[in-house]
Amino acid sequence: MPYYGYFNGVITPVDQIGVGVTDLGLLRGYGLFDYFLTYGGKPFQWDLYWARFQRSAERMNLPLPLTKEQTYPILMDLLARSGQPDVAFRFLMTGGYAPDSISIVTPNLLILSEPIHPTPDWQYERGIRVILDEYVREMAEVKSTDYKRVMLLNSTIREAGAQDVLYHKDGEISELSRSNIFLVIGNRLVTPNRNILYGVTRRTILDLAKADFQLEKRPVLLSDLYEANEVFTTSTNKKVLPIVHIGDLQIADGQVGPVSKQLLARFHAFTGKQ
Ligand SMILES: *Cc1c(COP(=O)(O)O)cnc(C)c1O
Repeated sequence: MPYYGYFNGVITPVDQIGVGVTDLGLLRGYGLFDYFLTYGGKPFQWDLYWARFQRSAERMNLPLPLTKEQTYPILMDLLARSGQPDVAFRFLMTGGYAPDSISIVTPNLLILSEPIHPTPDWQYERGIRVILDEYVREMAEVKSTDYKRVMLLNSTIREAGAQDVLYHKDGEISELSRSNIFLVIGNRLVTPNRNILYGVTRRTILDLAKADFQLEKRPVLLSDLYEANEVFTTSTNKKVLPIVHIGDLQIADGQVGPVSKQLLARFHAFTGKQ
């Protein structure tokens, strides 16, 4: 069965959706998105993802054409049509069409269902490597469609035998290209609190960890990485994924640590996955 999508009040298979070539997403790169999964047939952390999407749209001056209550049944319809127990959903919102090619007149909203692409098991078992790049995302709190920085770095990442990039600026780290970062230092969980996209997975892990760890949401320095017993990254698709090398630095003994494993297990339990 194909995966279906919603555009302009119509539901069709995703590959039959057509957006006009004068869309400001295409002409000007003006767009934002969100991405989340269902577990057990229900959108996971729906309230949090919707709130973030709404905030992003507001920051980009894009009025949402649908309310939260109107959107939910569309999600359920798309899920049912996929014939799958669970899917990924992508909201994509662009500047839409404008006669002067610059004003926001009629934004476009697409809701797409997609197959879930799980992170490969070996990455959880061995941990990933990331390179370093001096960069801060523009309007970092918005889930913008602008990923040109990491796309340009893609071959550099591969040549380094790495899987992603950690952004830093003036000695301060922020996040990976599509996921947040945590340091485990003794009994403390340390995560940057600025120049980041506020991940729903980050929020979920902070909640799941608060009973057993001291949480520190603060500016985090590159030099803090030397103190770390473990480092991991979080996102909707990566969940809790250990990082064992950052640039030339090996984290602790270079092995996946117990806290990362424990928090991944807690996350799985929370989502209902065994
Ligand atoms: C999507 C994303 C994240 C992770 O957010 P989740 O809600 O946990 O998926 C972090 N940083 C960036 C830049 C992102 O695009």
